[in-house]
Amino acid sequence: MSEKIIILGSGESGVGAAILAQKQGMDVFVSDFGKIKDKYKKELIALNIAFEEEKHSEEIILSATTIIKSPGIPDKAPIIKKLKEKNIEIISEIEFAFRYSSAKVIAITGSNGKTTTTSLIYHILEKAEYNVGLGGNIGTSYARQVANGDKEYFVLEVSSFQLDNCVSFKPHIAVLCNITEDHLDRYDYKFENYIDSKFSITKNQTEQDYFIYCQDDEVTINNLSKVNNQVQKIPFSYHQKIENGSYIENNELIININKTNFTMPTSDLAIHGIHNSYNSMAAAISAKLVGVRNDKIRESLEDFKNLEHRLEYVASIRSVDFINDSKATNVNSTWYALESMTKPTVLIIGGVDKGNDYTLIKDLVNKKVKAIICLGKDNEKLHEAFSSEVGYIVDTQSMEQAVQMAYNISDKGDVVLLSPCCASFDLFENYEDRGKQFKRNVLNL
Ligand code: ADP
Repeated sequence: MSEKIIILGSGESGVGAAILAQKQGMDVFVSDFGKIKDKYKKELIALNIAFEEEKHSEEIILSATTIIKSPGIPDKAPIIKKLKEKNIEIISEIEFAFRYSSAKVIAITGSNGKTTTTSLIYHILEKAEYNVGLGGNIGTSYARQVANGDKEYFVLEVSSFQLDNCVSFKPHIAVLCNITEDHLDRYDYKFENYIDSKFSITKNQTEQDYFIYCQDDEVTINNLSKVNNQVQKIPFSYHQKIENGSYIENNELIININKTNFTMPTSDLAIHGIHNSYNSMAAAISAKLVGVRNDKIRESLEDFKNLEHRLEYVASIRSVDFINDSKATNVNSTWYALESMTKPTVLIIGGVDKGNDYTLIKDLVNKKVKAIICLGKDNEKLHEAFSSEVGYIVDTQSMEQAVQMAYNISDKGDVVLLSPCCASFDLFENYEDRGKQFKRNVLNL
């Protein structure tokens, strides 16, 4: 009897997994509790892959040999509970694709900086003409790419949810950007569980593999014992000299690994701010470990195009700069955004609060922010946290209002920063929608 693969969730990763499973000669069925997007439905029909939408048919699903679960489905979902009771194997698309690829994997996880670091590493390897694919949470799914022909390297952004359903996944290089509290609703509100999930990226690594981490990140450092001893550990730091790893000294990014070195002025880095120095160091170490030449690494770090919605410069209007950092959905990322501001800042903040501790950014707000524009359905917590820190704090209920208000109260030489610190689902579809609305309204001023 052939293996029966059932895929729960029909986004890019689910459909990619279905295509790969079919290519492997498996019996495949896709089930989505919501509606399946038209383009994916057409694809499944064209490939003759069976599917259902707006329901989960238990009798079919519980007959699976293996389930591939979308990272969006929590363990609390009734169908997952039933599958667990029956001991049916549940894996992520990442695990599934890994089983059918012989490419070396560079995997990036962390609370903030994953997409930037992943894209940066991919950019370097591509420029150095490696046979490389980009996947995970970004763009075309890993499974679809494996189905279309393997690569020599894959650079993958992996979330904790994907790691939770990995069994044999073994990156040659694992990058852990940092760990701050996030997504605790999916981890029984225990930070420890989320930390364990992040560190599980190293669980199958051996002495030939590398673990790259931030020496300045307390949570990472306090939990380093979770990485098995054989793995080669390579740290990076902004604040201290590192013997085997990377650091910043006298405005130079320096790497010393296994007696080879690399240096470049931080002023030549395409992306700015301390957080992006971290991302650049992690990316440069990864590239060096797979043998990319120094001049290629340097060139790529210089010409990398910053990603949309991450400290993205939008326009300067009446000498006021507008910056879109809509992807900042937690306190830590807003901290770094504020840290990198060099002009008096009008901050647009707010949305769905995921249990934020605003004391972490109070000092920076006090130092750098002249006015706060709250943009959320419920702004009470923001007022409590910041009323005594800034001279002006006001509520708005739409992006149009927020941008107009920011424009009215800003002076020549100020910067208006959208760095919401919160999720976007109260007033927007997602962070992309929020960022796009910001840009549209700014350009309409
Ligand atoms: P992720 O994919 O982990 O969400 P992104 O690269 O998309 O990370 O960046 C998300 C947000 O975090 C942006 O607002 C960005 O400016 C900020 N950020 C990027 N890198 C870091 C980092 N290393 N530490 C803290 N914040 C970061």
